[in-house]
Amino acid sequence: MKHIPRFSTDSLSRNYPEPEEVPAPGARWVVVRDMGVVVTTSPAPTILLDRHPASSGMAVNRSQYLGHLGSTPVYAAEIPGAAPLPGSMVYSGVRELSGTIPDEELALAGLAVQIIGFDRTTRFCGVCGEGMRQLRTERAKRCPACGHTEYPRLSPAIIVLVRNADSVLMVQSKQAPAGRHSLVAGFVEPGEDLVHAVHREVMEETGIRITNVSYAGSEPWPFPNSLMIAFVADYDGGGIEPDGTEVVSAGWFRRDNLPSVPPKLSIARSLIDWWVENGTRPDSR
Ligand SMILES: [Zn+2]
Repeated sequence: MKHIPRFSTDSLSRNYPEPEEVPAPGARWVVVRDMGVVVTTSPAPTILLDRHPASSGMAVNRSQYLGHLGSTPVYAAEIPGAAPLPGSMVYSGVRELSGTIPDEELALAGLAVQIIGFDRTTRFCGVCGEGMRQLRTERAKRCPACGHTEYPRLSPAIIVLVRNADSVLMVQSKQAPAGRHSLVAGFVEPGEDLVHAVHREVMEETGIRITNVSYAGSEPWPFPNSLMIAFVADYDGGGIEPDGTEVVSAGWFRRDNLPSVPPKLSIARSLIDWWVENGTRPDSR
């Protein structure tokens, strides 16, 4: 499958112990507000600020080390939700930035929102209530009173393209826009492996059995903290019975009769586009 993972921060290296905040001009800053980031609009749109946000008049709630781009340390800084922005800057959701800034920055924006979220939601120990302390030797926090350690939350989720001769299985979920179909997907549950999760989700959402489950790629999906793991599989038996709760309808669709599908950028769309081009196995039923 040809999929370019846009939210994979491959260009970033994490150096530990992480550096204390480096004063300008030695560092770059990604400014986070709510679930989005601040974009400097000219000369070219960028989310990387070459000075501390405070020097542009922005009050910083919290900051986190993200990693290094080459020899340049990069930090995320959060500003209050209602804060006005300097004239040359605008607020944007992360997804909306796709295509307007380099992919490397898009991935950084997703990471910055996630790591600021980690800092925001782990201020106190979940075991004893003490204030948590940031570690500088790994991306984690530890409670000074009881030793409880917190890492950024990562939620693995599977997505699967199921083939049946010249058709593909698509489902319409309850929360999707009207008419929008996508592939079977769902979170991995504690205690199960990925292939089990694939079989279970397909059975739960559509009632069919599948075979030939094979790995097709993965992508961080920071909305808010998923890791999408993609698979391709073949139909093995059973009639379609949508579960009626999560999935309101499900069916087989041919290439020349596809319903409304998810927008570009998503791994679901990449899988569908790949299948439309060349996804049928000669031996598939
Ligand atoms: Zn504690």
